[in-house]
Amino acid sequence: MHAALDRRNLLRLSAFAAAAAATAGARAASGASAGTAARTGPTPSDWTSLGRGLAGRLIRPGDASYDAARRLYNPSFDGIRPSAVAYCANPSDVAECLTFAKRLGVPVTSRSGGHSYAGWSTGTGLVIDVSRMNTVRAASGRAVVGAGAQLVDVYDRLAARGVSIPAGSCPTVGVAGLTLGGGIGVVARKYGLTCDVLESLQIVTADGRVLTCDADHDPDLYWASRGGGGGNFGVAVSFTFRTHATRDVTLFFLHWPWSRARKAVAAWQAWAPFAPDAMWSNLHLSQDPALDLQIGGLYLGPRAECERLLEPLIAKIGREPSSRYVVQTSYRDAMMVEAGCPSGTVSQCHRAGTLPNQTADGRFPRDAFSAKSHMAYRPLSSSGIGTLVDRIARPGRHTVLLDALGGAVGRVRPDATAFPHRGALFSVQYYAHRAGAAAWLRAAHAAMGPHFGDHAYVNYIDPGLSGWRQAYYGGNAGRLAKVKATYDPGRLFRFPQAI
Ligand SMILES: Cc1cc2nc3c(=O)[nH]c(=O)nc-3n(C[C@H](O)[C@H](O)[C@H](O)COP(=O)(O)OP(=O)(O)OC[C@H]3O[C@@H](n4cnc5c(N)ncnc54)[C@H](O)[C@@H]3O)c2cc1C
Repeated sequence: MHAALDRRNLLRLSAFAAAAAATAGARAASGASAGTAARTGPTPSDWTSLGRGLAGRLIRPGDASYDAARRLYNPSFDGIRPSAVAYCANPSDVAECLTFAKRLGVPVTSRSGGHSYAGWSTGTGLVIDVSRMNTVRAASGRAVVGAGAQLVDVYDRLAARGVSIPAGSCPTVGVAGLTLGGGIGVVARKYGLTCDVLESLQIVTADGRVLTCDADHDPDLYWASRGGGGGNFGVAVSFTFRTHATRDVTLFFLHWPWSRARKAVAAWQAWAPFAPDAMWSNLHLSQDPALDLQIGGLYLGPRAECERLLEPLIAKIGREPSSRYVVQTSYRDAMMVEAGCPSGTVSQCHRAGTLPNQTADGRFPRDAFSAKSHMAYRPLSSSGIGTLVDRIARPGRHTVLLDALGGAVGRVRPDATAFPHRGALFSVQYYAHRAGAAAWLRAAHAAMGPHFGDHAYVNYIDPGLSGWRQAYYGGNAGRLAKVKATYDPGRLFRFPQAI
C-alpha cells in the first residue's frame, strides 16, 4: 500500500521540483531569447558550412531529428522553432558557433538539460547544445563533469566510485543550468549547494576564448558562475567539483489528514531548517486531485536515528501520521527514488530517443506545468499559514512545496558566491498543471508575497516576476552586472531576464 502511494507521490515530487510560467514563458522565449532578427541573416550555405566545420552535429529544420532536437522538458515551449540546434562535441565547436552567430547576427542560446522554467534555453536562432559533452570522471576527491551531463548519470557514475556531489532531484536536469544557478538538493544541508562544491569550470566566452576559471584565474567569472544563473556569461563546457563519500541513507514519507495542515506547516518550519545538517526534508501541500499533506525527506544516517529525529516533529503536529514509510537504502538508490525512478534502470530514467542523453528504452516523461516561487527568510505567521492552506484548498490541480535550507547552505556568506539566499529557511514552489494554472499561480503567489517577501531563486526562473534582479540576486546584482560587462560587453548572451 505504501509503495504504490509513495511511488505516485515521488513521481509528483520530482515534477514539483520544477516550475515554469508556461504560456507567458513561451511567448517570451520565442520573442526575446531569439527576438532580435538577424541583420544580415545566414544563407543556407552559411549553415551548411557551419555544420561541416563542427565535430558535432548541426540539426536544421527538415532534418528527421529536428522536432526531437528542438523540444525542451516542458511541452509548453514546443511551438518555438530554432534555426538550428548544434550538438557541440567540444569547446572548439562552441567557439565556432559563437563566431558564426556574431558574424551573421544570429541570436544564440545555450542549452544543457533543457529544463528552463521559462523556456529560455531555446529560441528562434542558434541553440548551442552541450549534451554531447557529458562525461563524468572521478578521482582523488574531485569529479570532472561535462556540462551536458544529466543528474541521473552524474549520480550513477559517481556512485560506482563511492562518491557523489550535492545536486538536484530531477534525473534529466542538466548539470550546467543547475550549477550556474546554485543547485538545491536533498543533501544540501549537509554538503551545500552544487555551486558550493564547484572548484573550477571551463567556459567559452563571447569572444570565443576557452577559459578555465577558479578562485585564482578569472575569479570574478568563477564567482558569477556560482549562482549568477545560466545563459549569462558564456557557454560552460566542463565543471570540476569536490566530491563526498557516500553511505547508506534513510528515506521517509509521512502523511497526515488535511485537517492537520496548519499544525504541520507550523511544526515543520520550526523544525526542518534547524534540524541536524544530515536531515533534509520537504513539506508538500497538494490539491491534485484531492487534498494531500506529506512530509518527506532524506537522512544521511541509519533508520533508527532518523526515527528519533522525527519524533519531536510528529509530537508538535499532535498526531501520528496516517501513513508512514521509512526505509534505509543505498545512496544511489535513494537518488533514484528522489528522481522519480524508484523501480526503473538508469537507462529508463532518461527521455526516449536517439539524440545525446536520450536512450532507446527511456521512459522519463516530459511535463507541462507552470510555477512561481519564493525564498522564505522568516517563518510564516499564523495568518500566513492560514492564507497558504486556504489557497491550496481552492479548486484546481496544484501543489505548494517547501524545501528546507539552512545547515551548510546557510554557513556561506551571501556575497561569497553569486547565490545570495544564504539566510533563507526554505524555498517555496507553487506548482500547477497548465489548464487554469496561471490564475491560481498568480493569485497564490501574490497572496503569499506579504508573508514571504520578494526573494526568488534564479533556477526557478519566472518570466512574470517584477523586480527580478533584486529577487534573484539581492546585494550581488551590482557585481554580476560588472562581470557581465567585462565578459560579454556586446551582450551576445541575452534573454528577457539576462543580467
Ligand atoms: C523537473 C525539474 C526538477 C528540478 N529540480 C531541481 C532541484 O532539485 N534543484 C534545483 O536547484 N533546481 C531544480 N530544477 C530547476 C533547474 O535547476 C533549472 O531549471 C536549471 O536551470 C535547469 O538546467 P538545465 O541545464 O536542465 O536547463 P536548460 O534549460 O538547458 O538551461 C537553463 C538555463 O541555463 C542556460 N544554460 C544551459 N546550459 C548552459 C551552459 N552550458 N552554459 C551556460 N548556460 C547554460 C540556458 O541558456 C538557460 O538559461 C528543476 C527543474 C525541473 C524542470
